[in-house]
Amino acid sequence: MENIRNFSIIAHIDHGKSTLADRFIQLCGMVTDRQFHDQLLDSMDIERERGITIKSQAICLPYRAKNGKDYILNLVDTPGHVDFSYEVSRALASCEGALLLVDAAQGIEAQTLANLYLAMEHNLEIIPVINKIDLPSANPEGVALQIEEDLGLDADHIQLCSAKTGLGVESVLEAVVNLLPPPKGDPEKPLEALIFDAFYDPFRGTIISCRLFEGKVKAGDTILFMSNKAAYRVEEVGFFRLTREPQNELSAGQVGYIIAGIKNITDTRPGDTLTLKDRPCAKALPGFQEVKQVVFSSIYPVSTDDYETLATALEKLTLNDASLSFQKDASTALGFGFRCGFLGLLHLEVVQERLEREFDLSLILTVPSVNYHLFLKDGTMKEVDNPAHYPDPTTIDRVEEPYIKATILIPERYMGVVMTLCMERRGENTHYHYPMPGRIEFTCELPLGEIIYDFYDRLKSITQGYGSFDFDLLDYRESDLVKLDILVNGERVDALSQLVHRNNARARGLHACEKLKEEIPRQMFKIAIQAAVGGTIIGRETISALRKDVLAKCYGGDISRKRKLLEKQKAGKKRMKTVGNVEIPQSAFLAVLKSD
Ligand code: GDP
Ligand code: MG
Repeated sequence: MENIRNFSIIAHIDHGKSTLADRFIQLCGMVTDRQFHDQLLDSMDIERERGITIKSQAICLPYRAKNGKDYILNLVDTPGHVDFSYEVSRALASCEGALLLVDAAQGIEAQTLANLYLAMEHNLEIIPVINKIDLPSANPEGVALQIEEDLGLDADHIQLCSAKTGLGVESVLEAVVNLLPPPKGDPEKPLEALIFDAFYDPFRGTIISCRLFEGKVKAGDTILFMSNKAAYRVEEVGFFRLTREPQNELSAGQVGYIIAGIKNITDTRPGDTLTLKDRPCAKALPGFQEVKQVVFSSIYPVSTDDYETLATALEKLTLNDASLSFQKDASTALGFGFRCGFLGLLHLEVVQERLEREFDLSLILTVPSVNYHLFLKDGTMKEVDNPAHYPDPTTIDRVEEPYIKATILIPERYMGVVMTLCMERRGENTHYHYPMPGRIEFTCELPLGEIIYDFYDRLKSITQGYGSFDFDLLDYRESDLVKLDILVNGERVDALSQLVHRNNARARGLHACEKLKEEIPRQMFKIAIQAAVGGTIIGRETISALRKDVLAKCYGGDISRKRKLLEKQKAGKKRMKTVGNVEIPQSAFLAVLKSD
């Protein structure tokens, strides 16, 4: 155990976490330079394109240190986005130490702080690393001062590197060996292993990533999940190298994988404790939480023929992503589909992209919503996450909606605009302090429903990219909410309904009508778009009829040109859904929530 180091890299997004991880892999001789391609750890296409790590992964690096001894360095990667902070906390709980990576040009950002606080909660030893020192705009001295004075971390331990050029990367690994403590634990005690990730392999079933704190596990053992008492026989255990490397056993202090013929990923929950059925541990490791979806949206296939494909696709995705939930749903406007729950908007977008890309589906997603608590006059409480299922308002006594605490880090000069944005979104209880000179850490309590759509984008744009943001769920609070309906040619489109605060209803209604007018293409007849609360129309827009026949331009002459035009029209249609007799494009459903 003396020669093991379990660590994580924590950073604000884009500060170079994946690049540094890949450098480590290369430096430990696991790939030749020719095999080395950017960002080995981010294996999903979407992750690579968007430069974010969605799921945590682990890799076991063999490293011969300058002292001549051989070490096993287990790097547990963490997701870098606010939607996934529970996953981050489970990954950190598997480690003794963390590298706090800070961009030499950007300095400390909101997620640098948020992740640092998480790491401190888990009592991790922290090594500050300043990355991107190759950049002309790098200011390592300034950032080092921030780290020392504002974060209170030991300046003597600060490492400087460039993950891009490789400069200084080896001394970061030396620091991991010399400054981080080895794991503790007793291989003779009953097994206690923390699950920090799981993914599905079509041939082997669920592959569990875990950290062993006590005890041992080997093929043939029967493991027990502490949260739901499910038991499985272990088929294989091993380490993560670039591929899985089977081992005879895993033992206290180690990080590795377990395969136990588990076909159902819902049994495997990050944060759960694994033990042995014959000799269980006394109690589960702390910190386990059920995943909590906070954003809901319904997904419908554009073509009703695709319903079965969508069902299969969602089942396949949930095999790998236990935080995605779905159940059957029907809409009068859109037909049959699924109501899905997500960890946040980014999670929603990733799922949408995967469905469209990997399963070649053309989809409509309804206006995202949060989960509301409705207290009815008959004394019962009803949870509603779909405005289409909102009951008759006269039966409702009061409504509560989820609130978050937002933490926003900005240069001082943006204080005014950020304050205004938060007030527009019904923010309350604002506080601020100066964690470092010239920077403000602004906290504010906001309804989750007001930030799910474009709060982060707005924040980025009003602060010219300097604002960073993180949030925690707080509680449910009473609000005066009403259901805003949209009618297209007199027909209510349930998929466009949303719950809004009464004071904002008119403005939101007008805004939705305007947006829809922009999004819905002109058709052969006039289209009326109306917004209504209860039975009262509060806004209206009209899309005038299209007169020109597209084919009229072609004078009957050029057949191939005609065909091309028709094909183009058809392709354009693929993302349209006919509601009543009006074709509504996919973009319209999300656009109604977007401000500008
Ligand atoms: P992550 O979001 O923290 O995983 O960040 P990435 O590793 O994806 O890096 C974000 C961007 O910064 C990418 O374009 C990298 O090529 C770039 N980058 C990472 N490390 C360095 C570095 O040391 N120097 C420079 N100039 N760019 C870097
Ligand atoms: Mg990354």
